[in-house]
Amino acid sequence: PARIEAGALHLDGLRAGYGDGPDVLHPFDVRIPAGSLVGLVGHTGSGKSTLLSLLLRFYPPRAGQVWVDGQPLADLDEAALRRDLALVPQEPQLMPASARDNLRMGRMDLSDADLEAAAQAARLHDTLVALPQGYDTLLGEGGVQLSTGQKQLLAMARALAGRPKVLLLDEATANIDSATEARLGEALAQLRGRVTVIAVAHRLSTVCDADRILVLHHGRLVEQGTHAEL
Ligand code: ATP
Ligand code: MG
Repeated sequence: PARIEAGALHLDGLRAGYGDGPDVLHPFDVRIPAGSLVGLVGHTGSGKSTLLSLLLRFYPPRAGQVWVDGQPLADLDEAALRRDLALVPQEPQLMPASARDNLRMGRMDLSDADLEAAAQAARLHDTLVALPQGYDTLLGEGGVQLSTGQKQLLAMARALAGRPKVLLLDEATANIDSATEARLGEALAQLRGRVTVIAVAHRLSTVCDADRILVLHHGRLVEQGTHAEL
């Protein structure tokens, strides 16, 4: 397929590991309806980022597969994968460039209005406007440094600007202040019904609104349910 149309996901018996090492993700079966918000929690090393890597097709699973809208993820065009499925990484990087260029990331089809709308959605707009030169302020090396949390919001805005159908968020492990935390949670909740979100969260508060929370333990799905059920 050349596009992800709806963004329904089926995680079907995925098994994964690194090199000759043991399996770090063991098979389970989960169907994620399009437009839903799924939280992914578990201790460090439980396989959360590994699962996101499989969804991003960074490497193939040892067994099983992901289905997207009923089609194998493996059959999706590379261009569609990059456009319609976006990652907010655990350690977002800034380019030494303006805030605007950091949001645009070379996608010249995106207007300034698109970028601003994305920054609004990621709850970052007010922060950017308050910088010395607003959206034209140089960020990163030689410019204004952002906190880890602000970098994640920027990565979120960057991702949203491309209007993905599926958003994968790998929450930063440390140094996220509770205000940023709340903003991330709010931004995610607003995407419901439009974007399928899988959000790795270190604090349940980020995903307390989730339609479903998956709990991984040593690479196994040990529990799932809503915040209230867990
Ligand atoms: P964290 O909360 O710390 O981000 P995680 O749940 O994302 O942890 P993963 O990064 O998916 O965990 O790691 C799952 C397992 O796979 C761990 O045992 C880890 O050591 C191992 N692992 C992860 N990446 C690699 C890699 N590139 N090479 C070898 N082993 C890896
Ligand atoms: Mg991780």
